[in-house]
Amino acid sequence: MKQLFERVSSYWVRYDKYEIRTDAKGAKYITAAEDAKPDIFDPLEDAQAMVLEALNVGRRFFGKKAPEKEQESAILQFVHHYGLLGLMTALPTTPKFMDYEKVYLPKNHFIREEALETEQFLDYFYPFKKPLLRKRGVKYTWEVEGDTDAVALELTFSSEPTAKKMSFQKEYAEPLDWIAKALKDMTFPFITSKYFYEHGDAFDVDEKKLMAQGVAAFGGIAPTYRIALLDKPTIVWDFHSLLIGLQMMFSFMLAEDKTPLRMCDSCDTIFVANRKTQRYCCDKCRRKGE
Ligand SMILES: [Zn+2]
Repeated sequence: MKQLFERVSSYWVRYDKYEIRTDAKGAKYITAAEDAKPDIFDPLEDAQAMVLEALNVGRRFFGKKAPEKEQESAILQFVHHYGLLGLMTALPTTPKFMDYEKVYLPKNHFIREEALETEQFLDYFYPFKKPLLRKRGVKYTWEVEGDTDAVALELTFSSEPTAKKMSFQKEYAEPLDWIAKALKDMTFPFITSKYFYEHGDAFDVDEKKLMAQGVAAFGGIAPTYRIALLDKPTIVWDFHSLLIGLQMMFSFMLAEDKTPLRMCDSCDTIFVANRKTQRYCCDKCRRKGE
């Protein structure tokens, strides 16, 4: 895995303060606070820590479910660490959807329509303040609003798709239950594979087939890559959303044999085992369990 992702192009934006806000219809969103400051960082610098935190948010939606307040604060904490998921660029067939007349969507768990007018699609992510966007057919103009931070972000990412730049601006929001669903969906293949391999005898052939089908449905749009002539020819991955980066790194971690993903037998924390037989996340849990 290390070699495959030696050079990854993956800059992302997180603000120093996010909050849960409710729209007129009572739906909850996570968005940057009014006085929040943006920070550009590389989420894949420690991809393992990010994937583990995402899985440990996701697991709170399975089995003995955590109380809603605890689920919410775990999601909000994840967003404080890594920013929003970039669902606006993750869901359509292309992050460059602004260049098309409509937004086209492959089958997903969030929006049923296969195609939406651009404004209609954007409405999902701008419940409080609409962006200054004019669009007619494939032509559009977008004006950056706000302080010097907003303009600086636009300039830093000037070669990136417009929608990605828009998703870095302060007024961009993501529905709280969508973030929850995305992290839950990511945890599902892990939980299923755990039962599939560890308790295989408890399931009959049909049940096992269903489990395999459920896991096979996982997978987003593959990130694109290009070849950069650095000190040697290097594959550079382009993730246009945090979610796709997360899903991809998670998939590699799930398939990893020597340091497998595990759920602690004592406290349910998902962790990376240093050896195949490791059952507990820490010494404290091991003493408790043995
Ligand atoms: Zn533990």
